[in-house]
Amino acid sequence: MFLEQAIVVPDRLLLIAKTIGEFMNFLEQKQAICDIGHKLWQLNFVAANDGNISLKVSDNVLLATPTGISKSELVPEMILETDMQGNVITPSKYSPSSELKMHLRCYQAREDVVSVVHAHPPIATGFAIANIPLDFYTMPEAILALGNVPIAPYGTPSTCEVPDSLMEFLPEHDVILLQNHGAISLGSSLKNAYYKMETLEHYAKTTFIALKLGGVKELNQKQIKDCLALREKYNMTGKHPGYKKFEK
Ligand SMILES: [Zn+2]
Repeated sequence: MFLEQAIVVPDRLLLIAKTIGEFMNFLEQKQAICDIGHKLWQLNFVAANDGNISLKVSDNVLLATPTGISKSELVPEMILETDMQGNVITPSKYSPSSELKMHLRCYQAREDVVSVVHAHPPIATGFAIANIPLDFYTMPEAILALGNVPIAPYGTPSTCEVPDSLMEFLPEHDVILLQNHGAISLGSSLKNAYYKMETLEHYAKTTFIALKLGGVKELNQKQIKDCLALREKYNMTGKHPGYKKFEK
């Protein structure tokens, strides 16, 4: 009896310690998602309940923002735990966004992706509405982080048309504009995905201003190639489409 207890008790303690550890880890990650949500709202990248954020925390657990909540109001207990099919695995009074389908498709298509951010940043979305892909080689930061940003064809919100429209671009692109809708960014971490969304909007804004001022003056092919070489030096993660514009 004594021997049995000596074995069982430490196992239980280990299990409790593991559960508490997982809970604290999830809590920290959920807070980080809320912080990113607040930034998206502060930067005017989302209005009302727009946008969503997800983070893959293990092979079969995803943390995701709920539907119907402004990103300005997010607190950790609102963040949902789902499996990689989008089923909620920890009971919650909140529900997943219909746009979670888009996120799930990104994780299915790309094993290297750990986080996905979807928002409607106004200048970048303006390019998506005007149907002008962001294919200008102007600033090293945008060249390094994004390269060409294509536009996925329009799909009806909440249907599979939206995730389906991403498929042809996911193998090569971490950032994609969604026609008449917004943008999506994929990253090797939550911050990495979020920073790409910031870089996208900055790239769109500076390009828009340059176009208004009389047109963009792009870097030449050698300058672009030198920029691209830095991706390896800086150990930059993710996919990069290269510079197809000059390969034609
Ligand atoms: Zn949206």
